Amino acid sequence: MKKTFVTKEQLQQIVEQYPTPFHLYDEKGIRTCARNLQKAFSWNPGFKEYFAVKATPNPFILNILKEEGCGVDCSSLTELMMAKACGFAGDDIMFSSNVTPAEDFQYASELQAIINLDDFTHIDFLNNLVGIPETISCRYNPGGEFAISNTIMDNPGEAKYGLTKQQMMEGFQKLKELGAKHFGIHAFLASNTTTNEYYPTLARILFETAVELKEKTGVHIAFINLSGGVGIPYRPDEEPVDILAVGEGVRKAFEEVLVPAGMGDVAIYTELGRYMLAPNGCLVATAIHEKHIYKEYIGLDACAANLMRPAMYGSYHHITVAGKEDQPCDHKYDVTGGLCENNDKFAIDRMLPKIDKGDLIVIHDTGAHGFSMGYNYNGKLRSAELLLKEDGSAELIRRAETPEDYFATFDFTGLFKDL
Ligand SMILES: *Cc1c(COP(=O)(O)O)cnc(C)c1O
Repeated sequence: MKKTFVTKEQLQQIVEQYPTPFHLYDEKGIRTCARNLQKAFSWNPGFKEYFAVKATPNPFILNILKEEGCGVDCSSLTELMMAKACGFAGDDIMFSSNVTPAEDFQYASELQAIINLDDFTHIDFLNNLVGIPETISCRYNPGGEFAISNTIMDNPGEAKYGLTKQQMMEGFQKLKELGAKHFGIHAFLASNTTTNEYYPTLARILFETAVELKEKTGVHIAFINLSGGVGIPYRPDEEPVDILAVGEGVRKAFEEVLVPAGMGDVAIYTELGRYMLAPNGCLVATAIHEKHIYKEYIGLDACAANLMRPAMYGSYHHITVAGKEDQPCDHKYDVTGGLCENNDKFAIDRMLPKIDKGDLIVIHDTGAHGFSMGYNYNGKLRSAELLLKEDGSAELIRRAETPEDYFATFDFTGLFKDL
């Protein structure tokens, strides 16, 4: 049984001040998650989590994570600008981008962020723009299939990211000649993994690659970045990842591969987004319509523009009707938004308690890749974001969009100024 981090009474208070729909984040949960992760990797003195900004690009969230000792992983100019505005600088910023525009590299270089190159040709590209910094990282793509004990997790050979093994060898050699002194290796081979074995398996591949790279090129490997990909139990029957076991698994690989090679000083980095934030956010909406045709529909004041994952990937997001947690799930509904797209459904054939108009609907696990994937299709406006603080009060951390925001890019026309 999946529980929400907010009660019906709390929600009723919040909606008096802030109308639905909104994304609500749980400060306590975020801090707990960050602390558990640090604990799991406390055996590694250089460990650092670089929170993937794209998951939840909100300065208030970034500040909480900053207080917990995290850095940020950025992949675009505006994410870098947000990081700078929040006071991140230098090696608190990892710049893991791909198909990178020149201006993004220039800005990352100004901030002295750690640059993680996605391609061999980016070595010359970066060198011609701003030169090669002393610390540099490359993203590795081992190709083929990525399996954990006979289960194929993903297909790196089909992924657009990273350098091949041969390119890593030549790339590190070349970067060394161009003045780089400290090297990082990064890889992201599978998304939303719910096995404790993902990081340990990935780590072993990267550690073995690191030993080979060090032996062949003589460079100093300073860090290994396990990137994102640790998942969460979206479904009620799924088990959460045991992050302490994950940390122990990585430690074992570290001690078996890196320590014997004299590389016990390597720092472990992560770039988790989903694991840190997804369970610590929910989308709160109101049931505004019910419809009885060939199926039973509940229409919400939120739509796929507020949470794209179900429409885009068919993802499961658990739904709770606030205050009806203990009622039997004896009604079958499609829970929909109002986009003119039939895939704008938060749930299909979902068994739920009887829903009445006006009920507050909580869509779980939207804290990462939720608001941030939002868009303005059908002229729908992005919602507010609120923070449920540790004292139980709610703080507005992003206001809802207004029609003025939607029309802002026509400001040169004067057409919408009298609305
Ligand atoms: C998306 C992304 C992440 C975060 O992924 P999660 O699945 O949210 O953990 C980390 N690093 C890079 C480079 C990414 O693109």
